[in-house]
Amino acid sequence: MARYTGPVCRLCRREGTKLYLKGERCTSGKCAFDRRAQVPGQHGDARKKIGEYGMHLREKQKVRRYYGLLEKQFKNYFIMADKKPGMTGENLLVILESRLDNVVYRMGMASSRKEARQLVLHNHFRLNGKKANIPSILVKAGDVISINESSTDSAKIKELLEGVAAAKTPKWLEVAENGTAKVVTLPAREDIDFEINEQLIVEFYSK
Ligand code: SF4
Repeated sequence: MARYTGPVCRLCRREGTKLYLKGERCTSGKCAFDRRAQVPGQHGDARKKIGEYGMHLREKQKVRRYYGLLEKQFKNYFIMADKKPGMTGENLLVILESRLDNVVYRMGMASSRKEARQLVLHNHFRLNGKKANIPSILVKAGDVISINESSTDSAKIKELLEGVAAAKTPKWLEVAENGTAKVVTLPAREDIDFEINEQLIVEFYSK
């Protein structure tokens, strides 16, 4: 599966905001953005006036990177969102939040979406009792995510479960201490705790 393998802190500096891509490091004193927020590159400090296209592009890149997706995947989600009734931008955010790797991250089982994706790929979860090792599966209201029986003895999973009780989970997810989560309802726009202007993304793809 294709994925970005370059330096991730650089992406936060490029987008001018913390994207929380490195788990615990992001909230520690070691965060590269907190220490040096300038745009990477030789002319990073040079103030460039950002045009309309640049604004749309940066918002799209910021959200795409926040969810750890490649351009093609992100555009496909936009096309899917556009075909649904309602506001395209909001539909897009709901789709992105509904990905299984994001749900595992929101459950508090992983410190970053990248770690959540790996846990899913390594077959640690079941969806409605069935094998679910595809990070891009979209969950629906009423779905139940549970830990694969064969993973419950894993030291890594036991350690992660300790973090679940302390995690601040969104109200659209009901998470039990044994790592079973129920999707009470699909997330709503106001449940997304990251500053996003989705209209700029809609305008980017509408050109
Ligand atoms: Fe971004 Fe986290 Fe790196 Fe800070 S530590 S720059 S928030 S990825």
